[in-house]
Amino acid sequence: MKEFNLDLQLHGVYAGGVSKNMLVPIIAEQAKLKGIDAVSSADILHKKWFEHVKQGIVEESNGVFSDKNSKCFFVVGTEVESKDRAHHLIYLPDFSAAEQLREKLIGFGNLDCAMCGRPVLRLNAEQIAENVEEAKGIIGPAHSFTPYTGIYAHHDSVRKAYGGMAESISFIELGLSADSALADLIEENHSYSFLTSSDAHSPWPHRIGREFTRMKLKEPSFKEIRKAFERKQEKLITLNVGLNPKEGKYHLSACNACFTKYSAEQANQLNWKCMKCRGAIKKGVRDRIEELADFKEETHPDFRPPYMHSLPLAEIIQAAFGVNNINSQKVQSTWMDFVERFGNEINVLVDAEEEELNEVNQEVAKKVKAFREGLVLYIPGGGGNYGKPIICDSKEEFDSRKEILEKDINASQVSGQKTLGEF
Ligand SMILES: [Zn+2]
Ligand SMILES: [Zn+2]
Repeated sequence: MKEFNLDLQLHGVYAGGVSKNMLVPIIAEQAKLKGIDAVSSADILHKKWFEHVKQGIVEESNGVFSDKNSKCFFVVGTEVESKDRAHHLIYLPDFSAAEQLREKLIGFGNLDCAMCGRPVLRLNAEQIAENVEEAKGIIGPAHSFTPYTGIYAHHDSVRKAYGGMAESISFIELGLSADSALADLIEENHSYSFLTSSDAHSPWPHRIGREFTRMKLKEPSFKEIRKAFERKQEKLITLNVGLNPKEGKYHLSACNACFTKYSAEQANQLNWKCMKCRGAIKKGVRDRIEELADFKEETHPDFRPPYMHSLPLAEIIQAAFGVNNINSQKVQSTWMDFVERFGNEINVLVDAEEEELNEVNQEVAKKVKAFREGLVLYIPGGGGNYGKPIICDSKEEFDSRKEILEKDINASQVSGQKTLGEF
């Protein structure tokens, strides 16, 4: 058994709004630099993407796939949309299962248009799950709590949404705006494994692997991953890693035009119309979960692994240097210095010794240390606008800025240094 970091949700070039760099060799290369061992093949029902994947990925041994240069393992999978607009993640044992599922679904939606990487199907969640089971695959809801396309945006219960197939749901993907603490406030989620993954639309390491799941596996095959989800043996999912939910773009309820944030109570009083611009207030993940919560305080089933809040290294470097552009030469070359020294980004963030970090760059080392000590505050996201981390340099700074943020969810001047978003 070995531990693997898996990022099982991303998209290829044929899904909407995706970078033209989302191609197998680049994904594999960048995943390796991030410290991700295995990724989803993405969008496997799309014919052209399927051909691209089949050219770029080989079956190393029984059920274990990797790119041709063996930089990264791949798990055959896709995301689909059901007719209620909820998104679902699907994983399959191999390419022939993918072809089989494609045959079954081809009459229920356009699988091959230029932007159909994530197809919209004229089937409900239960019907999709039936088809996936017949193709010997597994399924679970994607970014389950987000407005618009999360299962909880359209249903009060995952079990009810999947009807007769509820027992065969293998996992729940949390999405960027939720973590285990929030998701486990809903009792039915205590019977599911949690998946954390990036939903990356570009291959760069502040996107790929920004959320990932660590599993103890014999090998990164579909069969082993399925075992980990289904918990038939010991605890095989050992860690969920993700952004703080406050960074998610739908964490708090907020106006989707001017992004003013509201408490659920205020929003109700205002009939979900923005006081400032009359735009619609979109209900945030935190408020949706509170509506559905069975528990008032954080509580978890015994098998639930720890959840670690992470930040992309490039964002930490950006904060250390106070630069505006994450793609600037200074940020990118410093990022490369660290990654070359420690092998990959996750090693830098989690494992490297402080003294060794100092040898590469002291300003960045200081911020990594603050990140590890939890001295990070967040201006929460909402209404489609990402939240913003503020990495403080001392406990005193953390405490004083926290107080301002807690008093006013719209506090834009959290005193002192500028936030990442303000540079
Ligand atoms: Zn989705
Ligand atoms: Zn507004």
